[in-house]
Amino acid sequence: MGALRDFVADMLESEGAAIEPVEPDGLEVLASEPLRAAMGWPEFARLGFAATLPLGAIPIGLEGDWLDRFGALLGERGRFAERQLVVAGNIAAPSDPQRLLDRALDLPNAICRLHDAKPTWTRCLLLAFRYTAISDEKREGLVWLGFNQGTGAVIDGDFLRRLRTHLAGAVDWQVPEPDTRRVAGVAWDAATVTARVERLVEHHVRLDLEPFLNTMRRRLDRDRERIHAYHDDLRRTAQMKLAALASASGEKAEADRKRETLRIAAIEREYSAKLDDLRHNYDLRVTVDWVQGLTLFAPVHRYDVLIKRRKGERTMRIDWHPAIRMIEPPPSDWGLGVGRVRLVCDDHLHLTDPSGQAPCPSCGKAWCRACHSAACPRCGREA
Ligand SMILES: [Zn+2]
Ligand SMILES: [Zn+2]
Repeated sequence: MGALRDFVADMLESEGAAIEPVEPDGLEVLASEPLRAAMGWPEFARLGFAATLPLGAIPIGLEGDWLDRFGALLGERGRFAERQLVVAGNIAAPSDPQRLLDRALDLPNAICRLHDAKPTWTRCLLLAFRYTAISDEKREGLVWLGFNQGTGAVIDGDFLRRLRTHLAGAVDWQVPEPDTRRVAGVAWDAATVTARVERLVEHHVRLDLEPFLNTMRRRLDRDRERIHAYHDDLRRTAQMKLAALASASGEKAEADRKRETLRIAAIEREYSAKLDDLRHNYDLRVTVDWVQGLTLFAPVHRYDVLIKRRKGERTMRIDWHPAIRMIEPPPSDWGLGVGRVRLVCDDHLHLTDPSGQAPCPSCGKAWCRACHSAACPRCGREA
């Protein structure tokens, strides 16, 4: 529980409390009046974070409402921050950039040539989202994703994990210098960020929820089969009775037939009601909230790349990050922008994910979704 104690110690100090570590895994706190009121502590409190508490300590843990109280104390602070990435020493740029590009970029219908390379600063936006999925069970999680606003590249997956590990390991928090800001260029406007974020968040939440959804589907299938087997048995028994009564005559037989027919109808109604209950019980609701953001000013080695497709050409930027010695995925004018395959369109040389140049499901014509985002230009089928 060392991490929780460190977090609480940092937070209480920033609230003006005097703190002193005590063993085992505890803190002594001399708190101001507002802090005492917010946490419900006496003026002098002893806190314990492990199973074995210091003498007379209040146990603090992840259970109970402690996190809510600390959250209320933090309020909106710490939601957004800016930081300049400091890279120790002089890390040499890759010696064979064309080879690096060939590995980073897969262009099945175009060629690329390195045009220019230089060290510079870029502005990365890293965002965290919390999701809650509720069906018959509940699952919560956190996804991180980001963008390099200087190139348009998506920052996620292994690249982002390594970047965040690097940041967590760097103790000093360097505030961005004015020169760094100027070189890194302006931030995207809110509309651009929102447009890029929406689909990417959905993609990552889906990925994260996949194991949860798979086990949920298995439970649903199992329940459905159980309900079906039970009602199928009842119905078959009633049908057999009805069949046995088919040749009998007289008032009693007629009454028996009527009773079995009503029974079958009742079983069918109950089966359908049970299926409705099941659907309701497994109904999936997912909510996603933005929780934290970081603008990271990062030193990069920037490659200007010339892309050639038939008679056209365009340039594209792609950054290599010395802090983690990794190159980003290529930018994309349409699609999620993940992976390394991009197709180039004939008319405007848009770079898109492969699905951005896919054939129309109606008329079969391949078209560029960055050129025509709403519908197929030949048959008008909506994209
Ligand atoms: Zn079409
Ligand atoms: Zn296009």
